[in-house]
Amino acid sequence: MANSLREKFLRGMRGGVREGVPMRELTSFRIGGEAGLLLRPADKGELATLLGVLHREGIPYWILGQGTNLLVPDEGLRRPVIEVPAGTIRRQGRWVTVGAGVKMARLLKVCAQWGLGGLEPLAGIPGTVGGAIRGNAGSGPVEIGERVVSLGVILPSGRRR
Ligand SMILES: Cc1cc2nc3c(=O)[nH]c(=O)nc-3n(C[C@H](O)[C@H](O)[C@H](O)COP(=O)(O)OP(=O)(O)OC[C@H]3O[C@@H](n4cnc5c(N)ncnc54)[C@H](O)[C@@H]3O)c2cc1C
Repeated sequence: MANSLREKFLRGMRGGVREGVPMRELTSFRIGGEAGLLLRPADKGELATLLGVLHREGIPYWILGQGTNLLVPDEGLRRPVIEVPAGTIRRQGRWVTVGAGVKMARLLKVCAQWGLGGLEPLAGIPGTVGGAIRGNAGSGPVEIGERVVSLGVILPSGRRR
């Protein structure tokens, strides 16, 4: 599997490719065996291309945010693990557009610097914005889903919507 993937895509990948990576280095609980293949696409364009290749090849994979909510088995992970690229934070008036791989702590800090409120109850929740949205993270009266007005997604086919 890794060989055919390497032929098709990985050689030209701008982001990082690592083999035999201990998942304890990538998860908050610091447990778990090795990921056979860790893929770090450089940006969302490369992520979309990678997902498209995996989809066409019928190769299942795991998505990794900051690894704060993952328990990895000691046997490790056979599927490729794809780390979501960080992305940017952009402001349009009272709203921000933020990449899925941006850490929640950074988003909150930048919003505070810009004088934008609304996410304060979520302060202290670790992980990435994408991970928080995936689990609809919440604290007190606020769930992150209530603060999301639109989502750009990459479909398993690699198409963006
Ligand atoms: C100390 C601590 C305190 C916490 N407090 C709270 C709390 O108060 N309230 C609360 O709701 N939660 C809380 N959590 C849980 C927290 O919300 C999750 O750990 C966090 O949102 C996971 O984000 P992550 O980037 O680390 O995701 P990961 O742990 O890397 O992944 C978690 C899951 O999300 C998927 N995923 C990650 N990113 C994406 C993406 N971009 N697209 C699609 N799928 C994705 C992964 O495949 C995986 O299935 C806490 C966790 C910890 C460790």
